[in-house]
Amino acid sequence: MAPRAPGPVVLADEKRSAGLMYGGVNVLPTTPDAALPPAAKPTEELKAKVVLAGAPGVGKSSLVRRYVLNEFADRYLHTLGAIVYKRAVVLEVWPGRVVRVAMTLWDTMGCGEEDDLLHDIDLFNAQGVLAVCDVTDAGTVSPLRARMGAALRAAGEVPTQILLNKADLGPHEEARTEGLRTGRDRGAPCYLTSAKAGDNVVAAFGDLARRIVERQLLPAAMFDSVDRRILDAADATAVTIEHVASAERISSLFAEARLERLRRTRFLQFAAFDLDPAGRPVVSYGRTQRASPTVRLEVPA
Ligand code: GDP
Repeated sequence: MAPRAPGPVVLADEKRSAGLMYGGVNVLPTTPDAALPPAAKPTEELKAKVVLAGAPGVGKSSLVRRYVLNEFADRYLHTLGAIVYKRAVVLEVWPGRVVRVAMTLWDTMGCGEEDDLLHDIDLFNAQGVLAVCDVTDAGTVSPLRARMGAALRAAGEVPTQILLNKADLGPHEEARTEGLRTGRDRGAPCYLTSAKAGDNVVAAFGDLARRIVERQLLPAAMFDSVDRRILDAADATAVTIEHVASAERISSLFAEARLERLRRTRFLQFAAFDLDPAGRPVVSYGRTQRASPTVRLEVPA
């Protein structure tokens, strides 16, 4: 891999227009929020740094440009340093509680290798990672594993998703299988995306924003009686987010957050981990051998 020099970090600024050259670097616009109906006006805001990681040429720039600017170009330009785009996602946590997630999306030039120190700096303080590989090229999966390892060290266990990109060219079985295996090992749901056709791009970025919110809003208490009931249910059969949401009458956002917390603490493991026919993640959870945690019940003051 050829050595590279650190490039500029460019922050997109909504006051400047698209394509404007500013001090020799491109300054990019942000997508304005869609006009929201009054009921969905945000009641709080969360800022989140999201980093795109993966080998050169897998489509990181194309994905972020598709998501923020809704455009695609066939030409291939190397990203120098990092270009930062912005886009906000509005999520209703429950009726009346609406969170606006202001994402900064870091399109970085990492070479995809593990000891890529300059790229590690980009990963610092990330709240989410989009790890991208080319689903027509199994050789791009191992750099992605390396970058996910680096992200874990630099940013901690933040929500991560794998984008198996260039799906419009027809996925190769080996790349698809390897990508899914990596996702399962690292707890990162997978999406088949196409920056060219637009498939699953909005879903993948939006789902990452949702997972970042889940992590932040989950009650601090480590385990409670809801977790106990989830573990009891998982003893009998694999459970899904929908299952937990309806059994506990909680939003699917909190159901997923609880399932994921129980998986991260190794009380649950993936029972199923696959893609549906539309290329979106399908997961369910089953019990591990680990004994149930002691339940700390809340005592009213
Ligand atoms: P990066 O180096 O990871 O940022 O990759 P780029 O976004 O620059 O893309 C590398 C090349 O792959 C470019 O020629 C893109 O046009 C092409 N490309 C990116 N995404 C897709 C996709 O979803 N489908 C197809 N067919 N080509 C893509």
